[in-house]
Amino acid sequence: MPLMQINEVQKHFGGLRAVDKVSLDISEGELVGLIGPNGSGKTTLLNVLSGHLQASGGSVRFDGENVLGFKPAQLVCRGILRMFQMTRVFNRISAFDNLIVSGLAQGLSESESGKRAIELLEELTLTHVMYLDAGQLSGGQRKLLEFGACFMAKPRIALLDEPFAAVHPVMKETMSAFIKRRNEAGQTFILVSHDMPVVVDLCARSVCMNAGKVLADGPTDQVLHTSAVIEAYLGE
Ligand code: ADP
Repeated sequence: MPLMQINEVQKHFGGLRAVDKVSLDISEGELVGLIGPNGSGKTTLLNVLSGHLQASGGSVRFDGENVLGFKPAQLVCRGILRMFQMTRVFNRISAFDNLIVSGLAQGLSESESGKRAIELLEELTLTHVMYLDAGQLSGGQRKLLEFGACFMAKPRIALLDEPFAAVHPVMKETMSAFIKRRNEAGQTFILVSHDMPVVVDLCARSVCMNAGKVLADGPTDQVLHTSAVIEAYLGE
């Protein structure tokens, strides 16, 4: 059984069908690239999956349970974690404490949170700034911190929205290596990204959306060479 079964999900904004009957199965351990021109509905779909937007129709089963209509906090408890394009960190507490807060919110004990925070800070090359207030970090470091915060407890599925946007190339490398390692260890991801080289490098499978619909779904190489996909990007 797939970990997540997305069945004919719709999200309308007035007359606009931002997500128009999207059906996808995501298996445990997959790292699926979600691509498509601007305005094709990728972020809206992630927001529906994470409970930040109410769907207009369809169903989402996660681990066999129908979770459509659940609140973000209920979904976080089930291991569905969403990372936002904008960084959301607490500026007046340290980088370390930001991770602790996330760990506690994700249900870890204080000691587990401390241990995981130290591991993550090291993995994300942030150990040297761990006691600085998050507000003193560079934009890229804050982004890495927020990224790390998603992985304090091990999510069942991580929904990443443009994690590499406006990130320094060195940090981008840190982040993509992190995603790759986690995926090799079995972590499931949906990754929205405009960065095609990264999508090609990381994602065995990609789904291309256009005008709210799934245009192509399959091995990334094949999807990128589908004529409808090429046309959709040319029309951007
Ligand atoms: P993508 O992530 O692929 O760039 P989005 O999901 O952000 O696309 O947007 C899909 C469509 O829905 C766009 O036409 C966008 O303008 C519209 N849209 C997104 N959010 C809202 C909203 N809160 N209210 C009205 N329209 C929205």
